[in-house]
Amino acid sequence: MATDAPMSCSCGKVTGMIRGLSPASTNHVRCPCDACQAYAHYLGRADDMLDEGGYSNIFQMNPRDFEIHQGHEHLAAVRITDTGPVRWYADCCKTPLGNTFPRGGMPFLGVLPICIGHKGTSSAVVDLVGPVRAVGFEKPPIPLGSRLRTMGMIMRLFTKMAIWRIRFGKSWKPFFDEHTLRPIRKPIKLTDAEREALAAKVI
Ligand SMILES: [Zn+2]
Ligand SMILES: [Zn+2]
Repeated sequence: MATDAPMSCSCGKVTGMIRGLSPASTNHVRCPCDACQAYAHYLGRADDMLDEGGYSNIFQMNPRDFEIHQGHEHLAAVRITDTGPVRWYADCCKTPLGNTFPRGGMPFLGVLPICIGHKGTSSAVVDLVGPVRAVGFEKPPIPLGSRLRTMGMIMRLFTKMAIWRIRFGKSWKPFFDEHTLRPIRKPIKLTDAEREALAAKVI
């Protein structure tokens, strides 16, 4: 069953609604990568975003179903690495929202569940988007079963993205300009010193 989940930053200035959440409409993954960990430390929200192993829970979805109703002026974006995703957050209280590609076009959004009020793998998240399907960017050695699960998850995600793209056209809501497909905020680029300080906190 699909559920609409109210979305909010922790201080309540940014609010919205995530439409139609279900295990079928999303991909629930966990990621232990250095950049996801650094991002949690960048926001000062490691307790809300990382489990004891340094994993972030993320559910991937069609960004058009992620509605921002209020607080657009508080939106900010950062890139932890030069090649990684653009990570969107509410600057008022450093609440992570979701991760996107650098440009609009292909529909993709990886949501950090704290913006619907739940930490990581809480049963409330699993009720909404189903259990974790795979681990992204797992650290080696990676068991074969885990590798196969990740490959299956990526194929499932790409199939979904292709279907969303064909059905709804170029993706831009809510983080890109409709015409240029550029981010509505210029992503913050970290200095080398900031990156090093964050890297020191990664496990
Ligand atoms: Zn806030
Ligand atoms: Zn990651």
